Amino acid sequence: MGLEAFSCLKAQEFLEFGAMSHFLPKSVRNLIEELSKLPGIGPKSAQRLAVHLLHSPESKIEALGKAVVGLKENLVFCETCWNIAEENPCVICTDSQRDKKVICVVEDILDAQAIEKTREFKGLYHVLHGALSPIDGIGPDQLKLSDLFKRIESGKGDAEIVRVSEIILATNPSLEGEATALYIQKYLREYDLKITRIARGLPVGGDLEYADEVTLSRALNGRGEF
Ligand SMILES: [Zn+2]
Repeated sequence: MGLEAFSCLKAQEFLEFGAMSHFLPKSVRNLIEELSKLPGIGPKSAQRLAVHLLHSPESKIEALGKAVVGLKENLVFCETCWNIAEENPCVICTDSQRDKKVICVVEDILDAQAIEKTREFKGLYHVLHGALSPIDGIGPDQLKLSDLFKRIESGKGDAEIVRVSEIILATNPSLEGEATALYIQKYLREYDLKITRIARGLPVGGDLEYADEVTLSRALNGRGEF
């Protein structure tokens, strides 16, 4: 009997039994193990995904495999904003239509993407790659903070020199995000800069990347001096 003869439910039971008893072929067990290492994917979800893939046509699996393998192939970090990109500097940093005097500081690349999706923001980004969290050993040196300060000090933005006039602190409304925003605000106090913090329409302890576009849009437009 071929695998296609299994109903999804039967295949699921088969996998659960197999995962427990090591009855499954090594390739399937490996896949379940690797999938379950992904964030938000527990062993059950990993098994369900494995079943789904077992039922998928070869071409779909190949396309998925290629996308995974090729993920890092053509990617670089933009050394201006530290967003992930295909070119350094990235298309946002080199876009002549964007306002290079305004920099929106975010914790990670998904936050930048979430703000970009609102289509409200026409400035540049700076991705910190995390937030201050002494308990996890994340201090200023572990983040792209000095790069941010250098960017402001040197007026670096694209090839031309542009003086930054506003910094929008769009770190998450969590303890770490607030601490990071405060750290940046204290450091930049001496500079002739407008420093704003996105509005509190966002749930405390929430994550920017999960906020809906309307909430995020409002938070951005309702930003206040920090
Ligand atoms: Zn960039």
